Amino acid sequence: MKYYILNRGDQYSQELTQTFKTLARQRGLIWDQEEPDIVVTVGGDGTMLQAFHTFSDQLDRLAFVGIHTGHLGFYADWKPSELHQLVERMSDPDTRLEQHVVKYPIAEVQINRIDESLTYYALNELTLRGIHATLVVQLNVNDQRFETFRGDGICISTPSGSTAYNKSAGGAIIHPSLETIQIAEIASINNKVYRSLGSSMILPKHHHCDLYPKANQKILLSIDHLKFEYDDIISIRAMVGDKKVRFARFRPFPFWNRVKEAFIGDGE
Ligand code: NAD
Repeated sequence: MKYYILNRGDQYSQELTQTFKTLARQRGLIWDQEEPDIVVTVGGDGTMLQAFHTFSDQLDRLAFVGIHTGHLGFYADWKPSELHQLVERMSDPDTRLEQHVVKYPIAEVQINRIDESLTYYALNELTLRGIHATLVVQLNVNDQRFETFRGDGICISTPSGSTAYNKSAGGAIIHPSLETIQIAEIASINNKVYRSLGSSMILPKHHHCDLYPKANQKILLSIDHLKFEYDDIISIRAMVGDKKVRFARFRPFPFWNRVKEAFIGDGE
């Protein structure tokens, strides 16, 4: 099995990376930067987001595994103390990677600027925020005008990203077996003059939404950890992606258990 390993860059993550490489070499795993079967991340969820965007052109074939060096992550869910176990699972000749792969939906984001069109995939979400002033944006759903939003921003998340920014914006947590995107408002202005839905909405696969920012508005667009500033966006389309992201689980860790561990803890 061929692997690539990417870390957060801090000393502890770098040390763990070296330990992983040594164990992997001893167990016959091959380091491959170009076409790995598995991409291992050491750090936090941010490191996984970085790995996802680095290998976004190979999502169909490779799988990701995350080791966390801080608190439990949603993507980085292996503990440093489980490093040996992970290398053993990866190098076991009886391991069939496909049997351990879970696939999560991602979002496809098409950005139409005055003189170029760009396509990105988001693992967590895209957000649109005003830089100097309130964001004003028309939201269309399936090519029909739905509302004009005014406020701090809009967050459109994937199911696995629903526990990230979306949760802070008051959106629901969605199980990643559901192929959806969720549109959540960030501090909308609602009064007798301005009106938007005021709650998050969930679109199924094969539906899409388009955002049309007011002309000449300076906006901050984020796609996961990536940030872009624009003042010439005509529209942004978001929908459930035609691809999925693949995670190599190797041992069960159900989504709701991760939600409970991250947000509720063991207390009673
Ligand atoms: P970062 O890498 O420091 O991450 C910020 C926090 O978000 C970390 O605690 C991380 O563990 C957590 N996180 C990331 N993905 C998650 C997920 N799917 N479920 C639960 N928690 C998750 O910050 P960054 O590099 O600037 O941005 C990465 C992500 O941070 C963004 O995709 C966004 O979801 C999140 N974020 C959240 C808020 C907020 O909640 N108000 C604000 C900014 C960014």
